[in-house]
Amino acid sequence: MQFYSTRNSNHIVNIDEAILNGIASDGGLYMPSAFTNVYEQLAGNDLHSVAENMLTPFIGGYFSTDEIKAIVRESFCFDVPLVQLNEQLYVAELFHGPTLAFKDFGGMFMANVMSKILQKQGRKLTILVATSGDTGGAVANGFFDKENIDVVILYPKGKVSDLQELQLTTFGKNITAIAVDGTFDDCQHLVKTAFADQELKASANLSSANSINIGRLIPQMIYYGYVANKLFKEKTIRPTIVVPSGNFGNISAGLFAKQIGYPITRFIAATNANDVVPEYFNTGTYTPRPSVQTLSNAMDVGAPSNMERINNLFGNDVSKIKDEISAYTVSDEQTKATMQSIYEKYNYIADPHTAVGIRVAEEKANNETCVVMATAHPAKFKADVELILGVNIPLPKQLSDLLNKPQQKLNIPNSFSVLKDFLLTAQKK
Ligand SMILES: *Cc1c(COP(=O)(O)O)cnc(C)c1O
Repeated sequence: MQFYSTRNSNHIVNIDEAILNGIASDGGLYMPSAFTNVYEQLAGNDLHSVAENMLTPFIGGYFSTDEIKAIVRESFCFDVPLVQLNEQLYVAELFHGPTLAFKDFGGMFMANVMSKILQKQGRKLTILVATSGDTGGAVANGFFDKENIDVVILYPKGKVSDLQELQLTTFGKNITAIAVDGTFDDCQHLVKTAFADQELKASANLSSANSINIGRLIPQMIYYGYVANKLFKEKTIRPTIVVPSGNFGNISAGLFAKQIGYPITRFIAATNANDVVPEYFNTGTYTPRPSVQTLSNAMDVGAPSNMERINNLFGNDVSKIKDEISAYTVSDEQTKATMQSIYEKYNYIADPHTAVGIRVAEEKANNETCVVMATAHPAKFKADVELILGVNIPLPKQLSDLLNKPQQKLNIPNSFSVLKDFLLTAQKK
């Protein structure tokens, strides 16, 4: 399949270029050129069968069937439990991967696919990424020990949680974690400056792994397909899917899954106080603005980059978008109250992001069966969850294992020339 830029439908590339470039040269985001209905060809109901069925139209021209099977086996080696809370409410737990968040689907897949593309091309490259916490861990874990790829992660010193820092700094080998004396915005600015620097571009073979890469969206279709197929086959239910949203990448992947024929009724986006999209659907006016800080911090996004994809998919027609997605905002107070009531009613511990989704499902669904995408394990937000629920949350093995590992990190000032020297020197080794 080919991929076009949201800013120019004549700008077309193959999957290898789309993934290695990350963003189109005109600043647009890559979109699949076609959505082929493949649901009828689904051969089994397990996660791997669904994954092979869904991935084939997107990467099948470039990778052989055996290569796709290998990518699926290597990338998706964890469960997606579907937990039923009541007659019409389910939670799909996407957080059983190595870093306990749904971003593992994208991180693992992209690392395996990029590595295979580079092998075919006989090339090496360096991934440079800025993280406010979660993305960096999923990227580091996915790319760890990949032969032809080095990863450099910038994070704001003292501004990620201790557990998040451990998830970045305990790998070593091809993963370099750099604590920057600055904010997340400073880190992101350093990354952007590096990509615009001609000398670095020429010598350092840089690429990105951020959430706008189509290589992260494609694998995220899989859990939508898996749970929709399961409910449809077992109970003839076409669920409405509620997605706790920040950058709107996750929900975009859900739209793709529906486009290729999977049995989904519609989507509801649940945001925290960063309510640019609910406001857009209500008023027709899209006003990106600086984000505000909330309890569900992985969704603190004031200018959701994937809205460009969603607008493109529906020909920039808000009324068409609203036929497929509605969107609601939830305050921190409501999030806390929902975490408490869900715990009391169902003995279920939801992390703050998932709770934003559950709140919307409980209040806004019209007598339809909802699946809420549970985006992170509650232990990732241990301090907040314990305070809100008054319970003790044990660390899952993925996190407790990190506590005994030595940390390796560099510290740099918020200075592009220092970063540039580091990247040029590392390249020569
Ligand atoms: C990244 C993230 C989100 C938001 O996903 P988008 O694709 O940015 O909409 C929600 N919850 C958690 C836990 C996340 O890490």
